[in-house]
Amino acid sequence: MERWRQPVIPLNVEEDPYTIVDFGDGVARRDVTYTLTEEDTERVRLGYVCLQCLEPHERPFPERCSDCGYPMKERQPRDFERNYEGNVRMDLGARRIKERLAALEEEARRPAASILVPGTPLPKSDGGVILPKGVKNDA
Ligand SMILES: [Zn+2]
Repeated sequence: MERWRQPVIPLNVEEDPYTIVDFGDGVARRDVTYTLTEEDTERVRLGYVCLQCLEPHERPFPERCSDCGYPMKERQPRDFERNYEGNVRMDLGARRIKERLAALEEEARRPAASILVPGTPLPKSDGGVILPKGVKNDA
């Protein structure tokens, strides 16, 4: 068997019951998260393996995957960037949670927008500030 034909066998596949994907053919499918070996991840990254269905291809980034029709040339580089975390293809939900966490961390790193001078009333809470017990916030 030629090298490029070696099937990609994920180390682990998990179906995501919450995310439905549509590859543009009008068919709704469950999204999956799968873990690939480092070597196979590289094959996906280089465009020899379809990111959606893991079908191997002789030439990298064909216009469309011969098996599932996924537009590999147009979308795979971008989708790979967005979907792969190490050698795990993350599902949309997990990715959103991660983005949210990153945004929160970023927020926490930012210095406070204002400095409170003792004796001045506290600014009105926008709901995002937790005041310690005993602190009145009726400014
Ligand atoms: Zn495919």
